[in-house]
Amino acid sequence: MGRKKETITYPSGTFSTSVSTGSTPMGLDLSSQTIEHYRPRVSYYMREQAGDFHYGKLHPMKPHRLTLTNHLVLNYGLHKHMDVFEPRRATEDEILEFHSSDYIEFLQRVTPDNQKDFANCFAEFNIGDDCPIFDGMWDFCRIYSGASIEAARKLISGSADIAVNWMGGLHHAKKYEPSGFCYVNDIVLAILQLLRYYPRVLYIDIDIHHGDGVQEAFYTTDRVMTCSFHKYNGDFFPGTGNIDEMGAGLGKFYAVNVPLQDGIDDRSYTQLFKTVMTAVMETFCPQAIVLQCGADSLGLDRLGVFNLSIDAHGECVRFMRRFGVPMMVIGGGGYTIRNVARCWTYETGIVCGTELPKELPHTVYHEFFGPDYSLHPQLSGRVVNHNSKAYLNQLTARILEQLRYLKGAPSVQMHEAPPDIQGFLEDQERRDKDIDEDREGGKENRGGRREHVAEFYESDHDQDDDTGLDV
Ligand SMILES: [Zn+2]
Repeated sequence: MGRKKETITYPSGTFSTSVSTGSTPMGLDLSSQTIEHYRPRVSYYMREQAGDFHYGKLHPMKPHRLTLTNHLVLNYGLHKHMDVFEPRRATEDEILEFHSSDYIEFLQRVTPDNQKDFANCFAEFNIGDDCPIFDGMWDFCRIYSGASIEAARKLISGSADIAVNWMGGLHHAKKYEPSGFCYVNDIVLAILQLLRYYPRVLYIDIDIHHGDGVQEAFYTTDRVMTCSFHKYNGDFFPGTGNIDEMGAGLGKFYAVNVPLQDGIDDRSYTQLFKTVMTAVMETFCPQAIVLQCGADSLGLDRLGVFNLSIDAHGECVRFMRRFGVPMMVIGGGGYTIRNVARCWTYETGIVCGTELPKELPHTVYHEFFGPDYSLHPQLSGRVVNHNSKAYLNQLTARILEQLRYLKGAPSVQMHEAPPDIQGFLEDQERRDKDIDEDREGGKENRGGRREHVAEFYESDHDQDDDTGLDV
Protein backbone atom coordinates (compact mmCIF):
# COMPACT_ATOMS: atom_id res chain seq x y z
CA MET A 1 0.00 0.00 0.00
CA GLY A 2 1.51 3.25 -1.08
CA ARG A 3 4.78 1.47 -1.50
CA LYS A 4 7.24 3.54 -3.39
CA LYS A 5 9.28 1.28 -5.55
CA GLU A 6 12.40 1.76 -7.54
CA THR A 7 13.78 -0.79 -9.91
CA ILE A 8 17.48 -1.09 -9.37
CA THR A 9 19.33 -0.43 -12.57
CA TYR A 10 22.29 -2.71 -12.43
CA PRO A 11 25.43 -1.20 -13.84
CA SER A 12 26.72 -3.06 -16.86
CA GLY A 13 28.81 -6.05 -15.94
CA THR A 14 27.09 -6.40 -12.59
CA PHE A 15 26.00 -9.97 -13.17
CA SER A 16 29.22 -11.12 -14.66
CA THR A 17 32.44 -12.51 -13.44
CA SER A 18 34.42 -9.50 -14.54
CA VAL A 19 35.46 -6.92 -12.00
CA SER A 20 35.24 -3.49 -13.49
CA THR A 21 37.17 -0.54 -12.22
CA GLY A 22 36.55 3.15 -12.12
CA SER A 23 34.91 5.70 -9.92
CA THR A 24 31.66 5.28 -8.01
CA PRO A 25 28.46 7.19 -8.79
CA MET A 26 29.62 9.66 -6.15
CA GLY A 27 32.86 10.18 -7.99
CA LEU A 28 34.88 8.63 -5.20
CA ASP A 29 37.84 6.55 -6.20
CA LEU A 30 37.54 3.71 -3.70
CA SER A 31 40.49 1.80 -5.07
CA SER A 32 42.87 4.37 -3.59
CA GLN A 33 41.47 3.64 -0.14
CA THR A 34 42.02 -0.09 -0.27
CA ILE A 35 43.39 -1.42 3.00
CA GLU A 36 45.51 -4.48 3.75
CA HIS A 37 47.48 -6.70 1.40
CA TYR A 38 45.08 -9.66 1.25
CA ARG A 39 43.00 -9.16 -1.89
CA PRO A 40 40.30 -11.83 -1.81
CA ARG A 41 38.00 -12.36 -4.76
CA VAL A 42 34.54 -11.54 -3.47
CA SER A 43 31.23 -12.89 -4.84
CA TYR A 44 28.01 -11.13 -3.85
CA TYR A 45 24.57 -12.72 -4.18
CA MET A 46 21.46 -10.65 -4.52
CA ARG A 47 18.01 -11.03 -6.00
CA GLU A 48 15.86 -7.96 -6.18
CA GLN A 49 12.58 -9.81 -5.41
CA ALA A 50 13.91 -11.00 -2.05
CA GLY A 51 13.22 -7.55 -0.61
CA ASP A 52 9.58 -7.61 -1.70
CA PHE A 53 8.31 -10.40 0.58
CA HIS A 54 6.21 -9.50 3.61
CA TYR A 55 5.85 -11.55 6.76
CA GLY A 56 2.98 -9.27 7.85
CA LYS A 57 2.47 -5.64 8.76
CA LEU A 58 3.38 -5.95 12.44
CA HIS A 59 5.96 -8.68 12.04
CA PRO A 60 9.46 -7.45 12.92
CA MET A 61 11.18 -9.42 10.15
CA LYS A 62 11.20 -7.12 7.15
CA PRO A 63 12.87 -8.45 4.01
CA HIS A 64 12.77 -4.86 2.73
CA ARG A 65 16.05 -4.40 4.64
CA LEU A 66 17.67 -6.36 1.78
CA THR A 67 16.53 -3.77 -0.74
CA LEU A 68 17.92 -0.97 1.45
CA THR A 69 21.22 -2.83 1.76
CA ASN A 70 21.54 -3.47 -1.97
CA HIS A 71 20.82 0.17 -2.79
CA LEU A 72 23.56 1.35 -0.43
CA VAL A 73 26.02 -1.29 -1.66
CA LEU A 74 25.47 -0.35 -5.31
CA ASN A 75 25.45 3.40 -4.70
CA TYR A 76 28.72 3.16 -2.79
CA GLY A 77 30.06 1.52 -5.94
CA LEU A 78 30.99 -1.71 -4.18
CA HIS A 79 29.89 -3.80 -7.19
CA LYS A 80 33.12 -2.64 -8.80
CA HIS A 81 35.07 -4.53 -6.18
CA MET A 82 33.28 -7.86 -6.44
CA ASP A 83 31.42 -10.20 -8.77
CA VAL A 84 27.68 -9.80 -8.32
CA PHE A 85 25.40 -12.74 -9.06
CA GLU A 86 21.68 -13.20 -9.22
CA PRO A 87 21.47 -16.72 -7.78
CA ARG A 88 19.10 -19.45 -8.87
CA ARG A 89 16.48 -20.83 -6.52
CA ALA A 90 17.30 -23.92 -4.47
CA THR A 91 15.63 -27.08 -5.73
CA GLU A 92 13.37 -29.21 -3.58
CA ASP A 93 15.99 -31.97 -3.57
CA GLU A 94 18.65 -29.58 -2.32
CA ILE A 95 16.42 -28.43 0.54
CA LEU A 96 15.63 -32.05 1.39
CA GLU A 97 19.33 -32.63 2.09
CA PHE A 98 18.53 -31.30 5.56
CA HIS A 99 14.78 -30.90 5.99
CA SER A 100 12.18 -33.65 6.33
CA SER A 101 9.95 -34.39 3.35
CA ASP A 102 6.63 -33.96 5.20
CA TYR A 103 7.64 -30.51 6.44
CA ILE A 104 8.85 -29.40 3.00
CA GLU A 105 5.69 -30.72 1.35
CA PHE A 106 3.68 -28.63 3.82
CA LEU A 107 5.78 -25.49 3.08
CA GLN A 108 5.29 -25.97 -0.65
CA ARG A 109 1.55 -26.45 -0.49
CA VAL A 110 0.29 -24.01 2.15
CA THR A 111 -0.59 -20.44 1.13
CA PRO A 112 -2.53 -17.60 2.81
CA ASP A 113 -5.51 -18.56 0.61
CA ASN A 114 -5.67 -22.25 1.49
CA GLN A 115 -4.23 -22.14 5.02
CA LYS A 116 -7.60 -22.98 6.59
CA ASP A 117 -7.30 -26.45 5.02
CA PHE A 118 -3.98 -26.94 6.84
CA ALA A 119 -4.95 -25.51 10.23
CA ASN A 120 -4.73 -28.93 11.84
CA CYS A 121 -0.99 -29.06 10.92
CA PHE A 122 -0.12 -25.65 12.38
CA ALA A 123 0.79 -26.94 15.84
CA GLU A 124 2.85 -29.76 14.35
CA PHE A 125 4.74 -27.35 12.12
CA ASN A 126 5.06 -24.50 14.65
CA ILE A 127 3.06 -22.01 12.57
CA GLY A 128 1.95 -18.94 14.52
CA ASP A 129 2.93 -15.35 15.26
CA ASP A 130 6.68 -15.90 14.89
CA CYS A 131 6.39 -18.05 11.78
CA PRO A 132 3.21 -17.07 9.93
CA ILE A 133 2.07 -18.28 6.53
CA PHE A 134 2.74 -15.43 4.10
CA ASP A 135 2.45 -14.92 0.39
CA GLY A 136 5.41 -16.37 -1.52
CA MET A 137 6.89 -18.02 1.58
CA TRP A 138 8.19 -21.08 -0.27
CA ASP A 139 9.64 -18.95 -3.05
CA PHE A 140 11.40 -16.75 -0.49
CA CYS A 141 12.94 -19.86 1.10
CA ARG A 142 14.12 -21.14 -2.28
CA ILE A 143 15.66 -17.77 -3.16
CA TYR A 144 17.71 -17.24 0.00
CA SER A 145 18.69 -20.91 0.24
CA GLY A 146 19.69 -21.10 -3.41
CA ALA A 147 22.01 -18.15 -2.85
CA SER A 148 23.71 -19.77 0.15
CA ILE A 149 24.15 -23.06 -1.72
CA GLU A 150 25.63 -21.24 -4.70
CA ALA A 151 27.90 -19.22 -2.43
CA ALA A 152 29.22 -22.43 -0.86
CA ARG A 153 29.83 -24.00 -4.27
CA LYS A 154 31.60 -20.86 -5.43
CA LEU A 155 34.10 -21.20 -2.60
CA ILE A 156 34.58 -24.89 -3.34
CA SER A 157 35.24 -24.13 -7.00
CA GLY A 158 38.02 -21.79 -5.94
CA SER A 159 36.65 -18.92 -7.99
CA ALA A 160 35.91 -16.81 -4.91
CA ASP A 161 37.63 -16.40 -1.55
CA ILE A 162 34.69 -14.69 0.15
CA ALA A 163 31.02 -15.13 -0.79
CA VAL A 164 28.40 -12.75 0.62
CA ASN A 165 24.67 -13.51 0.89
CA TRP A 166 22.74 -11.05 3.08
CA MET A 167 19.49 -12.85 2.18
CA GLY A 168 20.65 -15.94 4.09
CA GLY A 169 21.63 -16.69 7.67
CA LEU A 170 18.30 -18.06 8.92
CA HIS A 171 19.88 -19.97 11.75
CA HIS A 172 16.85 -21.06 13.81
CA ALA A 173 15.10 -23.31 11.25
CA LYS A 174 14.95 -26.96 12.29
CA LYS A 175 14.83 -30.14 10.26
CA TYR A 176 11.13 -30.68 10.96
CA GLU A 177 9.79 -27.17 11.54
CA PRO A 178 10.33 -23.42 11.27
CA SER A 179 11.47 -21.40 14.26
CA GLY A 180 12.16 -17.73 15.04
CA PHE A 181 11.18 -16.32 11.60
CA CYS A 182 13.29 -19.00 9.83
CA TYR A 183 11.67 -21.69 7.66
CA VAL A 184 14.52 -23.30 5.73
CA ASN A 185 17.99 -23.42 7.27
CA ASP A 186 20.16 -22.19 4.41
CA ILE A 187 23.23 -22.28 6.67
CA VAL A 188 22.98 -26.02 7.29
CA LEU A 189 22.41 -26.56 3.55
CA ALA A 190 25.49 -24.48 2.72
CA ILE A 191 27.67 -26.22 5.31
CA LEU A 192 26.58 -29.62 3.93
CA GLN A 193 27.89 -28.41 0.57
CA LEU A 194 31.17 -27.24 2.09
CA LEU A 195 31.62 -30.60 3.82
CA ARG A 196 31.72 -32.30 0.43
CA TYR A 197 35.11 -30.70 -0.06
CA TYR A 198 36.47 -29.22 3.18
CA PRO A 199 37.31 -31.59 6.05
CA ARG A 200 36.56 -28.99 8.73
CA VAL A 201 34.14 -26.06 8.62
CA LEU A 202 33.86 -23.37 11.27
CA TYR A 203 30.48 -21.69 11.85
CA ILE A 204 30.50 -18.36 13.71
CA ASP A 205 27.31 -16.59 14.78
CA ILE A 206 27.23 -12.96 16.04
CA ASP A 207 23.44 -12.58 15.93
CA ILE A 208 22.04 -11.67 19.38
CA HIS A 209 20.14 -14.97 19.39
CA HIS A 210 21.74 -18.37 19.82
CA GLY A 211 22.45 -20.16 16.52
CA ASP A 212 20.45 -23.16 17.71
CA GLY A 213 19.36 -24.67 14.39
CA VAL A 214 22.94 -24.91 13.10
CA GLN A 215 24.32 -26.15 16.41
CA GLU A 216 21.66 -28.85 16.60
CA ALA A 217 22.32 -30.05 13.04
CA PHE A 218 26.03 -30.56 13.67
CA TYR A 219 25.99 -31.30 17.39
CA THR A 220 27.52 -34.75 17.07
CA THR A 221 30.17 -34.22 14.42
CA ASP A 222 33.76 -33.06 14.81
CA ARG A 223 33.83 -31.78 11.24
CA VAL A 224 31.83 -28.66 12.02
CA MET A 225 32.60 -26.42 14.96
CA THR A 226 29.77 -24.04 15.85
CA CYS A 227 30.60 -20.93 17.83
CA SER A 228 27.78 -18.59 18.86
CA PHE A 229 27.95 -15.26 20.76
CA HIS A 230 24.50 -14.34 22.04
CA LYS A 231 22.34 -13.13 24.88
CA TYR A 232 21.49 -15.97 27.23
CA ASN A 233 19.50 -16.05 30.42
CA GLY A 234 17.57 -19.27 29.87
CA ASP A 235 14.51 -17.34 28.81
CA PHE A 236 15.57 -15.10 25.93
CA PHE A 237 14.72 -16.70 22.56
CA PRO A 238 15.45 -19.51 21.70
CA GLY A 239 16.25 -20.44 25.31
CA THR A 240 19.38 -22.46 24.46
CA GLY A 241 23.08 -21.57 24.18
CA ASN A 242 24.40 -21.97 27.70
CA ILE A 243 28.14 -22.49 28.05
CA ASP A 244 27.71 -26.14 29.01
CA GLU A 245 26.21 -27.04 25.62
CA MET A 246 29.47 -28.30 24.13
CA GLY A 247 28.46 -31.00 21.65
CA ALA A 248 27.98 -34.73 22.05
CA GLY A 249 29.59 -37.97 20.90
CA LEU A 250 32.29 -37.31 18.31
CA GLY A 251 31.21 -33.68 18.42
CA LYS A 252 31.94 -33.23 22.11
CA PHE A 253 33.70 -29.86 22.65
CA TYR A 254 32.93 -28.83 19.05
CA ALA A 255 30.03 -26.58 20.03
CA VAL A 256 31.23 -23.34 21.62
CA ASN A 257 28.70 -21.08 23.30
CA VAL A 258 29.41 -17.58 24.56
CA PRO A 259 26.40 -16.55 26.69
CA LEU A 260 26.24 -12.79 27.31
CA GLN A 261 24.10 -10.47 29.39
CA ASP A 262 22.28 -7.30 28.33
CA GLY A 263 24.12 -4.21 27.20
CA ILE A 264 27.54 -5.54 26.18
CA ASP A 265 29.69 -2.75 24.77
CA ASP A 266 32.08 -2.54 21.82
CA ARG A 267 35.26 -2.99 23.76
CA SER A 268 34.21 -6.03 25.79
CA TYR A 269 32.59 -7.71 22.80
CA THR A 270 35.42 -7.30 20.31
CA GLN A 271 38.04 -8.28 22.89
CA LEU A 272 36.11 -11.42 23.80
CA PHE A 273 35.44 -12.24 20.15
CA LYS A 274 39.10 -11.94 19.19
CA THR A 275 40.35 -13.96 22.16
CA VAL A 276 37.89 -16.80 21.54
CA MET A 277 38.30 -16.84 17.78
CA THR A 278 42.09 -16.80 17.96
CA ALA A 279 41.96 -19.91 20.15
CA VAL A 280 39.34 -21.54 17.91
CA MET A 281 41.39 -20.94 14.76
CA GLU A 282 44.52 -22.34 16.44
CA THR A 283 42.86 -25.48 17.73
CA PHE A 284 40.30 -26.32 15.04
CA CYS A 285 42.20 -25.11 11.94
CA PRO A 286 39.14 -24.87 9.67
CA GLN A 287 39.50 -24.91 5.88
CA ALA A 288 36.30 -22.88 5.46
CA ILE A 289 34.38 -20.41 7.61
CA VAL A 290 30.70 -19.45 7.62
CA LEU A 291 30.14 -16.15 9.43
CA GLN A 292 26.53 -15.32 10.33
CA CYS A 293 26.29 -11.54 10.81
CA GLY A 294 22.87 -11.10 12.41
CA ALA A 295 22.53 -7.34 12.96
CA ASP A 296 20.15 -7.58 15.93
CA SER A 297 23.26 -7.47 18.13
CA LEU A 298 23.59 -3.77 17.25
CA GLY A 299 22.53 -1.13 19.76
CA LEU A 300 18.97 0.20 19.30
CA ASP A 301 17.78 -2.97 17.60
CA ARG A 302 14.02 -3.42 17.87
CA LEU A 303 14.41 -6.88 19.46
CA GLY A 304 18.01 -6.74 20.68
CA VAL A 305 19.51 -5.53 23.97
CA PHE A 306 23.20 -5.09 23.19
CA ASN A 307 25.08 -1.81 22.70
CA LEU A 308 27.25 -2.65 19.70
CA SER A 309 28.16 -0.05 17.12
CA ILE A 310 28.34 -0.86 13.41
CA ASP A 311 32.10 -0.41 13.67
CA ALA A 312 32.44 -3.10 16.38
CA HIS A 313 30.11 -5.51 14.56
CA GLY A 314 32.20 -5.02 11.44
CA GLU A 315 35.40 -5.52 13.41
CA CYS A 316 34.40 -9.17 13.85
CA VAL A 317 34.17 -9.53 10.06
CA ARG A 318 37.48 -7.71 9.58
CA PHE A 319 39.16 -9.95 12.15
CA MET A 320 37.99 -13.19 10.52
CA ARG A 321 38.89 -11.95 7.05
CA ARG A 322 42.51 -11.56 8.13
CA PHE A 323 42.93 -15.34 8.48
CA GLY A 324 42.65 -15.64 4.71
CA VAL A 325 40.49 -18.77 4.93
CA PRO A 326 37.64 -19.20 2.36
CA MET A 327 34.65 -17.58 3.98
CA MET A 328 30.90 -17.25 3.51
CA VAL A 329 29.43 -14.07 5.03
CA ILE A 330 25.68 -14.22 5.56
CA GLY A 331 22.88 -12.20 7.16
CA GLY A 332 20.47 -13.20 9.91
CA GLY A 333 18.42 -11.19 12.39
CA GLY A 334 18.23 -7.41 12.45
CA TYR A 335 15.04 -5.51 13.11
CA THR A 336 15.83 -1.80 13.05
CA ILE A 337 16.17 -2.04 9.34
CA ARG A 338 17.89 1.29 8.64
CA ASN A 339 20.79 0.08 10.81
CA VAL A 340 20.79 -3.43 9.34
CA ALA A 341 21.30 -1.91 5.89
CA ARG A 342 24.11 0.34 7.14
CA CYS A 343 25.81 -2.54 8.94
CA TRP A 344 25.74 -5.02 6.06
CA THR A 345 26.87 -2.32 3.62
CA TYR A 346 29.80 -1.48 5.88
CA GLU A 347 30.67 -5.18 6.15
CA THR A 348 30.47 -5.60 2.37
CA GLY A 349 33.06 -2.82 2.21
CA ILE A 350 35.21 -4.63 4.76
CA VAL A 351 35.27 -7.94 2.86
CA CYS A 352 36.21 -6.01 -0.27
CA GLY A 353 39.02 -4.33 1.66
CA THR A 354 37.54 -0.92 0.97
CA GLU A 355 37.00 1.93 3.37
CA LEU A 356 33.66 3.63 2.77
CA PRO A 357 33.02 7.34 3.30
CA LYS A 358 30.86 7.94 6.38
CA GLU A 359 28.40 10.07 4.47
CA LEU A 360 25.81 7.77 2.89
CA PRO A 361 25.40 7.96 -0.89
CA HIS A 362 22.05 9.21 -2.12
CA THR A 363 19.42 6.54 -2.84
CA VAL A 364 15.64 6.68 -3.26
CA TYR A 365 15.47 5.48 0.34
CA HIS A 366 17.56 8.37 1.65
CA GLU A 367 14.90 9.48 4.17
CA PHE A 368 15.33 6.19 6.06
CA PHE A 369 18.75 7.30 7.20
CA GLY A 370 18.05 10.73 8.67
CA PRO A 371 18.75 12.83 10.53
CA ASP A 372 22.45 12.00 10.33
CA TYR A 373 22.62 10.23 6.92
CA SER A 374 25.76 8.57 8.22
CA LEU A 375 27.10 5.03 7.86
CA HIS A 376 27.99 5.12 11.56
CA PRO A 377 25.13 6.47 13.68
CA GLN A 378 25.38 6.54 17.47
CA LEU A 379 23.77 3.29 18.65
CA SER A 380 25.08 2.68 22.17
CA GLY A 381 23.73 3.77 25.53
CA ARG A 382 20.12 2.55 25.58
CA VAL A 383 20.86 -0.46 27.78
CA VAL A 384 23.03 -0.74 30.90
CA ASN A 385 25.95 -3.14 30.50
CA HIS A 386 25.37 -6.10 32.82
CA ASN A 387 28.51 -7.96 31.73
CA SER A 388 31.02 -7.35 34.52
CA LYS A 389 34.74 -7.74 33.93
CA ALA A 390 34.78 -10.66 36.34
CA TYR A 391 31.96 -12.40 34.44
CA LEU A 392 33.69 -11.95 31.09
CA ASN A 393 37.03 -13.17 32.47
CA GLN A 394 35.41 -16.26 33.88
CA LEU A 395 33.59 -16.89 30.60
CA THR A 396 36.80 -16.55 28.60
CA ALA A 397 38.66 -18.90 30.93
CA ARG A 398 35.98 -21.59 30.64
CA ILE A 399 35.89 -21.42 26.83
CA LEU A 400 39.67 -21.57 26.55
CA GLU A 401 39.62 -24.57 28.83
CA GLN A 402 37.04 -26.27 26.60
CA LEU A 403 39.24 -25.63 23.58
CA ARG A 404 42.26 -27.09 25.36
CA TYR A 405 40.44 -30.44 25.49
CA LEU A 406 40.31 -30.32 21.69
CA LYS A 407 44.05 -30.07 21.34
CA GLY A 408 44.57 -33.51 22.80
CA ALA A 409 41.48 -35.06 21.32
CA PRO A 410 42.26 -37.92 18.90
CA SER A 411 39.26 -36.94 16.77
CA VAL A 412 41.04 -33.81 15.51
CA GLN A 413 42.82 -35.51 12.67
CA MET A 414 44.38 -33.02 10.34
CA HIS A 415 43.49 -35.28 7.43
CA GLU A 416 43.02 -33.53 4.13
CA ALA A 417 40.69 -36.01 2.47
CA PRO A 418 37.14 -35.59 3.73
CA PRO A 419 35.22 -38.75 4.58
CA ASP A 420 32.61 -39.97 2.16
CA ILE A 421 29.73 -37.51 2.25
CA GLN A 422 27.00 -40.13 1.91
CA GLY A 423 28.37 -41.98 4.90
CA PHE A 424 28.45 -38.70 6.76
CA LEU A 425 24.83 -37.96 6.00
CA GLU A 426 23.70 -41.44 7.02
CA ASP A 427 25.64 -41.12 10.25
CA GLN A 428 24.05 -37.74 10.80
CA GLU A 429 20.58 -39.24 10.34
CA ARG A 430 21.29 -41.94 12.89
CA ARG A 431 22.70 -39.45 15.41
CA ASP A 432 19.73 -37.12 14.92
CA LYS A 433 17.50 -39.98 15.99
CA ASP A 434 19.64 -40.60 19.07
CA ILE A 435 19.55 -36.92 19.98
CA ASP A 436 15.79 -36.76 19.54
CA GLU A 437 15.43 -39.67 21.94
CA ASP A 438 17.92 -38.14 24.41
CA ARG A 439 16.09 -34.87 24.39
CA GLU A 440 12.66 -36.34 24.99
CA GLY A 441 11.26 -34.39 27.88
CA GLY A 442 14.08 -31.83 27.79
CA LYS A 443 13.85 -28.18 26.88
CA GLU A 444 14.56 -28.99 23.25
CA ASN A 445 11.48 -31.12 22.81
CA ARG A 446 8.70 -30.02 20.54
CA GLY A 447 6.38 -29.14 23.38
CA GLY A 448 8.98 -26.77 24.83
CA ARG A 449 9.19 -24.30 22.00
CA ARG A 450 9.80 -20.70 22.78
CA GLU A 451 8.52 -17.62 21.07
CA HIS A 452 10.32 -14.34 20.68
CA VAL A 453 9.26 -12.18 23.59
CA ALA A 454 7.53 -8.88 22.97
CA GLU A 455 8.53 -8.58 19.38
CA PHE A 456 5.31 -7.10 18.12
CA TYR A 457 5.69 -3.55 19.28
CA GLU A 458 2.63 -1.93 17.84
CA SER A 459 3.80 1.33 19.35
CA ASP A 460 7.32 0.95 18.06
CA HIS A 461 7.04 2.42 14.62
CA ASP A 462 9.93 1.34 12.57
CA GLN A 463 11.26 3.89 10.16
CA ASP A 464 9.44 2.24 7.30
CA ASP A 465 6.07 2.98 8.83
CA ASP A 466 6.94 6.65 8.92
CA THR A 467 7.83 6.79 5.29
CA GLY A 468 5.11 4.51 3.98
CA LEU A 469 7.72 2.55 2.09
CA ASP A 470 7.00 -0.78 3.66
CA VAL A 471 3.81 -2.00 5.19
ZN1 LIG B 1 18.52 -12.85 16.02
